[in-house]
Amino acid sequence: LNDVEHLACDVLIIGAGGAGLRAAVEARLAGKSVIVISKSLFGKAHTVMAEGGAAAAMGNVNSKDSWQVHFRDTMRGGKFLNNYRMAELHAQEAPARIWELETYGALFDRTPDGKISQRNFGGHEYPRLAHVGDRTGLELIRTLQQKLVSLQQDDEAAGEGEEKLQVIDETTVTELFVEGGAVKGAFGYRRNTGRFMAIAAPSIVLATGGIGRSFKVTSNSWEYTGDGHALALRAGASLINMEFIQFHPTGMVWPPSVRGILVTESVRGDGGVLKNSEGKRFMFDYIPEVFKAQYADNPDEGDRWYTDPDTNRRPPELLPRDEVARAINSEVKAGRGSEHGGVYLDIASRRSAEYIRKKLPSMYHQFKELADVDITVEPMEVGPTCHYIMGGIEVDAETTVSKVEGLFAAGEVSGGMHGSNRLGGNSLSDLLVFGKRAGEYAAERASTVEPPKLTDAELTAAAADALRPFENDGENPFELQAAMQAINGRLVGIIRRSGELEEALEELEALRPRIEAVSATGGRAYNPGWHLALDLRNMLLCSIATAKAALERDESRGGHTREDAPGLDPQWRKTNLVAELDGESIALRRQPVPTMTPELLGLFETTELAKYMTPEEYQASSTEEG
Ligand code: FAD
Repeated sequence: LNDVEHLACDVLIIGAGGAGLRAAVEARLAGKSVIVISKSLFGKAHTVMAEGGAAAAMGNVNSKDSWQVHFRDTMRGGKFLNNYRMAELHAQEAPARIWELETYGALFDRTPDGKISQRNFGGHEYPRLAHVGDRTGLELIRTLQQKLVSLQQDDEAAGEGEEKLQVIDETTVTELFVEGGAVKGAFGYRRNTGRFMAIAAPSIVLATGGIGRSFKVTSNSWEYTGDGHALALRAGASLINMEFIQFHPTGMVWPPSVRGILVTESVRGDGGVLKNSEGKRFMFDYIPEVFKAQYADNPDEGDRWYTDPDTNRRPPELLPRDEVARAINSEVKAGRGSEHGGVYLDIASRRSAEYIRKKLPSMYHQFKELADVDITVEPMEVGPTCHYIMGGIEVDAETTVSKVEGLFAAGEVSGGMHGSNRLGGNSLSDLLVFGKRAGEYAAERASTVEPPKLTDAELTAAAADALRPFENDGENPFELQAAMQAINGRLVGIIRRSGELEEALEELEALRPRIEAVSATGGRAYNPGWHLALDLRNMLLCSIATAKAALERDESRGGHTREDAPGLDPQWRKTNLVAELDGESIALRRQPVPTMTPELLGLFETTELAKYMTPEEYQASSTEEG
């Protein structure tokens, strides 16, 4: 095909967020030729927006911290549905990945004695988030970009030019090519010209982030349309845990144009408290049974914890996100919400203006500029916003490979690591740990197979698919996206019910033919309508996978709350829901959650395990432990 730009490499990385860039560094260090493709501008990935920090048990602020405690917190946060091996590797390897970033040129905030400073965050027993003010993601991306450039300069010095490590931004991948159960390349288009591109590669790492744009109120930006999830499904890989979506408790609620933009959890980690319209600190009324031992039941103890965490329990504002989001939802529903339908987040009455401006500079500016609120003087109005998907591509914990040979996944697009709910700070560390692993194993595989070849027939079919919206005479893509967002927000949101989920599935299925017929007008050069028309089918697949799994799982756990099935069910704790593509439909099947090793089970008290597991499971563990 004349109109297609042809490229080839050993390791193709789709996505230039933290996971993609860390994978690129590793694959290049292993001597492979690497291409990184990004839908957005280079540097404008989701990772850059991360505010609070990266969780790693370095023990710099409290020496009692260790990987075992981090592992325990992660499993508790995910309500024990996590892939335990991923959670174990993550807790063990995160400190090394943070230190390594400093060798690449990152500079984290410091403790008075010069160590990397660590801040408190929900669900973490000790101060654990390495941070740079509230702009941690920016430092992470800046550092990884700088590392990539230095690797390119090394190549140039060695006479190899840029072709060993190329970054191609503003280019969207629309299709993966698979032959004999193994991936062999990808197809996409340059957003600014509309020109097609085909890249042959024996190893592909998906690092495309999340699905947040399927919801209207979201902290996610325009490119999070579930592309990687859908590309993986269509290539024959499986998704797990798609019912678990994290609604961050604190998004902005006013003015309407900024509704959903994130208000970092660091506000609470640094002393902010949640109040209802009656001025009550209501989180003390919402401490669930399973967390009672770890959280203060009165404001005095909660406040003392900030200076004396050894003899006091944490304030309940720092419960895992799912608990706080549900509590806010209940307060608003009970008529005790703020003027614009949220609750109040108050740090002004608790910390000095100087402290707030130093610790939370972005939040200070965000509220001043977007809402004309001075957070050093007044409380913020906040409410839940769609933030993160725990569900994603099912991968092998050690290698990050999916069910499809040569297809790897890391970062938010992968599933399992966070179980039913992710702890704040655990995504930046996740993408560093598993981004590195993905790069390493993708490079290893590229050494063992012949360079693949793409056929004209494959490229012609992919191009025809991509051009179909121009031939269609259907609806406007923006209207269809709004319709999908409305269904998800109304029927598959923070509180779910079986009848409503059935309704959601019917309505989403009814959207399918309309999305297939969606039309785009104008030319191929930068055409947002055409781009969205192609993204819509990905959003639809992800939305259906989520609604189907949410209907099937009749219990409440982490980022999945069923009003008609409240409470954790120990039988469901043993079950992952796996989504695969069967023709055009999503097929769901149940699959056992891997059983933790006795050593890891031994990190928990039997009384705690009894809250989550069937008697056979935790009794077996205590017998094995002796
Ligand atoms: P991303 O950084 O999301 O990058 C995805 C990349 O894939 C982008 O380059 C995108 O353009 C590209 N892409 C997508 N589709 C395609 C396609 N079809 N073709 C080509 N390229 C494609 N987590 C923490 O741990 N700590 C925090 O403090 C924190 N704060 C956050 C604050 C905000 C406001 C938000 C929104 C999230 C925050 N998170 C935080 C979550 C965390 O930032 C993300 O989960 C994480 O950055 C995801 O990284 P990633 O590398 O998986 O993907």
